[in-house]
Amino acid sequence: MKRDPAECGEGTDAIVLRRISYGETDLVLQLATRRFGRIACFARAAKRSRRRFPAGFPSFARLEIRVGPPGRADALRPILEAQVVRPHLRLPRDLPCYAAAGLLVEVAREALPEEQPEPDAFDALAEALDRLDEGPFGWGELLAAEMRLLAPLGLAPRLGSCLSCGAPAPPRRAACFDVARGGVICRRCGGAERTISGEARERMLAALAPLAGEAAPPAPDAGPGPLHDAQRILVEFLEHQFGRRFRSARLLEQVAGRGGGPPARRGSSCRRLATPRRTAGPRRKGRRPERVGCVRARGR
Ligand SMILES: [Zn+2]
Repeated sequence: MKRDPAECGEGTDAIVLRRISYGETDLVLQLATRRFGRIACFARAAKRSRRRFPAGFPSFARLEIRVGPPGRADALRPILEAQVVRPHLRLPRDLPCYAAAGLLVEVAREALPEEQPEPDAFDALAEALDRLDEGPFGWGELLAAEMRLLAPLGLAPRLGSCLSCGAPAPPRRAACFDVARGGVICRRCGGAERTISGEARERMLAALAPLAGEAAPPAPDAGPGPLHDAQRILVEFLEHQFGRRFRSARLLEQVAGRGGGPPARRGSSCRRLATPRRTAGPRRKGRRPERVGCVRARGR
């Protein structure tokens, strides 16, 4: 006999993206889930019920939840039960890892579509949080995690070939990067303001190989400086795409920026590498970023 999902709920893995207190004991939650994509939920008596929610809803933890269907009057799904399966308790003790986890969650909040399953993107987020919990922090690992999260959603920047003419960017060479268009522009097509080093570009492309069913090439040997620069450019690109600033990116700059390598180098083959700044206009509510210029994992 088939059970009614409204009563017994449906199970899925989940990660808390946002938590808002409602009244004295309830919570409104935005979750990334493996089965339903990004969902908005209501957890009645979440701060009180130790039977249904034994560990609550801690930030960055991986949960197993049972949820009902969205309500008729609102889009909130009731959470019937939640267990923590990976608490990620070490994260708050390592500030760079903690800030990087915050950045990934902020990006996931913007990038994951609502009520639409994206299991590859969910797995990328979950695995990245597992790794950050183990530490230590590295700019290369963060860049790879961001690429694996964005690529299944068609939101990864294009790094392998010119956005205008399609000419392949020479391997292991620095390339001009257009923040607004989200990819490499060759010099014959006019170049762009930012430069991504060859090592960082290879590292970011290598992260996508397993998603395309290819063996991951060995990560190129790169110092933290070029990887840190590439991370700043990626944040600038994401902030332009989503029309908002990521607070965790600022925190990460404060806690890992200096320790992560020398100050940002000025690009030699293209023009300057500027401090990240807001380039987008005000975001229209509900607007999804365009996928023009970005690639899914296979189309790089
Ligand atoms: Zn070109």
